[in-house]
Amino acid sequence: MLHIATEQEIKQGVITDVYFLRTEKILNNKNLHQRVIAEISLKSLPHNYEWGVFSGLEEVLHLLDKLPITLYAIPEGTLFTIDQPLLYIEGRYTDFLKFETSLLGLLCQASGIATKASRCRKAANDRSIISFGARRMHPAIAPMIERNAFIGGCDGVAVPKSADLIHEKPVGTMPHSLILLMGDVVKAALAFDEIIEPEVKRVILIDTFCDEKKEALQVAQTLGEKLFALRFDTPKSRRGNMRQILEEVRWELDLRGYQQVKLFVSGGIDEFQILELNSVVNAYGIGTSLSNAPVLDYSLDIVEIEGTPISKRGKKSGKKQLLQCPCCYKRLVLPEKTLNQDSKPVCSCGAAFQSLLYKILDNGKMCTTSPSPQKIRNYVFNQLKRFSISKPS
Ligand SMILES: [Zn+2]
Repeated sequence: MLHIATEQEIKQGVITDVYFLRTEKILNNKNLHQRVIAEISLKSLPHNYEWGVFSGLEEVLHLLDKLPITLYAIPEGTLFTIDQPLLYIEGRYTDFLKFETSLLGLLCQASGIATKASRCRKAANDRSIISFGARRMHPAIAPMIERNAFIGGCDGVAVPKSADLIHEKPVGTMPHSLILLMGDVVKAALAFDEIIEPEVKRVILIDTFCDEKKEALQVAQTLGEKLFALRFDTPKSRRGNMRQILEEVRWELDLRGYQQVKLFVSGGIDEFQILELNSVVNAYGIGTSLSNAPVLDYSLDIVEIEGTPISKRGKKSGKKQLLQCPCCYKRLVLPEKTLNQDSKPVCSCGAAFQSLLYKILDNGKMCTTSPSPQKIRNYVFNQLKRFSISKPS
């Protein structure tokens, strides 16, 4: 059997740290069922990232709905920086404490992957990026990985089950094994063209047996106009200068009239590799750097008990509002108690701030429906225009 928890076990709160179960036992014994407000925020981003993408909310709602709690959160796909309140849970602590482990796990990993995908999207600009990282992680979470890769910025995902989840068609090229078994790249290209549905783009892998330049020209001459792209997955030991290999192949293709043939690169791609190769590459397959993206270390902290602000050292107490100016997008964090619900503070640009935290669960009942992955992705793309990535220091 696979070493995974079932959905039912996760929803029952079985996947929890034992200290929550002990705390629950003590609080139940002492009859301490105070109502609390707990806040999710982030103290630091991995590798000095400038921003993160909030993701995983749809699964969190699946985990927590029907519990007697009220939940506020920023919309899935919102870009944020450190020390901004992102999610609030209001209710009796004993009603939700054992879900903290799973709740954070769902948000931290999903947001880490979405953030990495957005960084790659930002680097690639309008070039295609495809999620190829399912094979690096436990297969049980492939759909989660690829949904977040898509939301963050990928144009396509490789695993059909992941594609089903986001209502897209899976995207792929061909593995080296096909070329090995067919005997050479030309035979493999012809067989692919003969057998695979015509709506699938002809992307041929050209580094199995010979030099990239030689195989590229052979394939271009064989498939002619049907050839959409050539994929380079050149092994590390043979790479030398990848950019020069690509420039040379581009030159030779163009010289012979194959300007329409695109160059697709996979293997060890991340946002910095993308920045390096952009001038000679049309599309990227991104694997490990997406599926093994650093998680965002959110924490869940109690900030009020029975209406009184209280918190641990290093944490500001009280429920807050995360406000954003709809014109210049400036953000503001203010204690909710000081805010007049009818008149929001005014930004220096003259517009009234708006709240970014929405009520999503009202005593266990869903107040809204979850937006589609495509809608969340568009929301991410719109924000990305205002954010940038810097090179590692
Ligand atoms: Zn403003």
